[in-house]
Amino acid sequence: MRVSNETEHVGSWYAATANSAPERPALEGETSCDVCVVGAGFSGISAALHLAEKGLKVVVLEAARVGFGASGRNGGQIVNSYSRDMDVIEEKYGDGTARALGDMAFEGNRIIRERIARYGIDCDLRDGNLFAACNAKQMKGLVEHKALWERYGHRELELLDGQDVKREVGTERYVGALVDHSGGHLHPLNLVLGQAAAIESLGGVIHEQTPVTAIEHGQPVRLATPSGTVIAERVVMAGNAYHQGIMPALEGKSMPCGTQIITTEPLDEARARALLPNNLAVEDCNYLLDYFRLTADNRLIYGGGVNYGGQDPADIEAVIRPKMLKTFPGLADVSVDYAWSGTFLMTLNRLPQFGVINDNVYYAQGYSGHGVTCTHLAGRLIAEAMTGREERFDAFAGLPHLPFPGGRMLRVPLSAMGAWYYETRDRLGI
Ligand SMILES: Cc1cc2nc3c(=O)[nH]c(=O)nc-3n(C[C@H](O)[C@H](O)[C@H](O)COP(=O)(O)OP(=O)(O)OC[C@H]3O[C@@H](n4cnc5c(N)ncnc54)[C@H](O)[C@@H]3O)c2cc1C
Repeated sequence: MRVSNETEHVGSWYAATANSAPERPALEGETSCDVCVVGAGFSGISAALHLAEKGLKVVVLEAARVGFGASGRNGGQIVNSYSRDMDVIEEKYGDGTARALGDMAFEGNRIIRERIARYGIDCDLRDGNLFAACNAKQMKGLVEHKALWERYGHRELELLDGQDVKREVGTERYVGALVDHSGGHLHPLNLVLGQAAAIESLGGVIHEQTPVTAIEHGQPVRLATPSGTVIAERVVMAGNAYHQGIMPALEGKSMPCGTQIITTEPLDEARARALLPNNLAVEDCNYLLDYFRLTADNRLIYGGGVNYGGQDPADIEAVIRPKMLKTFPGLADVSVDYAWSGTFLMTLNRLPQFGVINDNVYYAQGYSGHGVTCTHLAGRLIAEAMTGREERFDAFAGLPHLPFPGGRMLRVPLSAMGAWYYETRDRLGI
């Protein structure tokens, strides 16, 4: 039913350093609940925790393990706002939609920090992320980006010109940068595991190794799993790029994309600080972007590239290490301890897709590579909509869900061609 047949965490640095968590038994037999959540990534776990906090009886069904998908293996970068920025939303969808989405653009970040504080989640939270410009055109874009975010009330931004960027990143690669002091980075698997424990502390139930194999719509909804059934008043579909086959309507207008990460051996303190003196998370402004940061044990986590359709390269280190060395040539003698791949869900307009099917099956997906904050917002908005406050959820649900040119057959080659065009422009700095 899923892109992957694996049922355990990918061999990532995150899995190797995860806080202890119970193995949650698979569902056996029949159970009923107010809300059944399908998928235990950030979207599903965030929704389930908001709903459990409101006193609803919640059952979460996860095909593999809590945090198995993108949420437990991503770059861990807390990036504010959305994958498509506010100026495009203003231009394409009008002032009313832009104002509504703009008012929520920094809320996902706040939810994460509230959760960490309230539930005492140990996930290596650090403040600050940096958008790096590789050429003058990108720097101009960052200046505009700062002005745009400030119009939406976000003031914790700092532009770094020329030499100043070297104060934050030990590379010759960048001509400037924008620092978001309110962004940051963390251990994403530990964040999702901590929230899962919080759900259980409030009486919610989570079943791992429990793929939903069929959904019978109606009132209530019946969800079939290999050894059981859930009868639910309402459902949250939160499988994102990893659920395939149970709800084709959610799959036709989005595209799974693979991206890869490597993690070095631990660096000594001085060497780590020479790379990132103030421990910021970094992503560059290229169409196919590189992203990196230090871990709590001074390893460099470096990610990049996109494989349309979600196919993994045979040798991840061979793909990502040259990118890392282009940014930090001095790491040539450093070995790579972990390499893994993950799948995120791209939409054509790069905005998330929220909606409701048959009045009682809610979904949120397609964060297009920037989902750490927006998934947490999505969970809150679904919980609000289910408990009578629909206008904020509806602001997203009203956005069009556009089909990829070429449909399911041709969306992969056509998107790869588009990416090649933009990548070439980035390389030439035009
Ligand atoms: C390598 C990588 C790096 C990234 N880096 C960043 C970053 O630094 N910052 C950022 O903002 N975003 C990043 N992203 C994007 C971000 O991780 C995702 O947008 C976000 O985690 C999506 O969360 P989710 O809960 O919607 O989906 P997922 O985390 O993918 O969770 C979906 C879950 O649903 C389960 N599932 C699927 N089908 C079923 C079924 N039928 N029954 C039961 N369970 C099912 C899956 O097993 C999975 O656990 C990255 C993504 C990847 C892949």
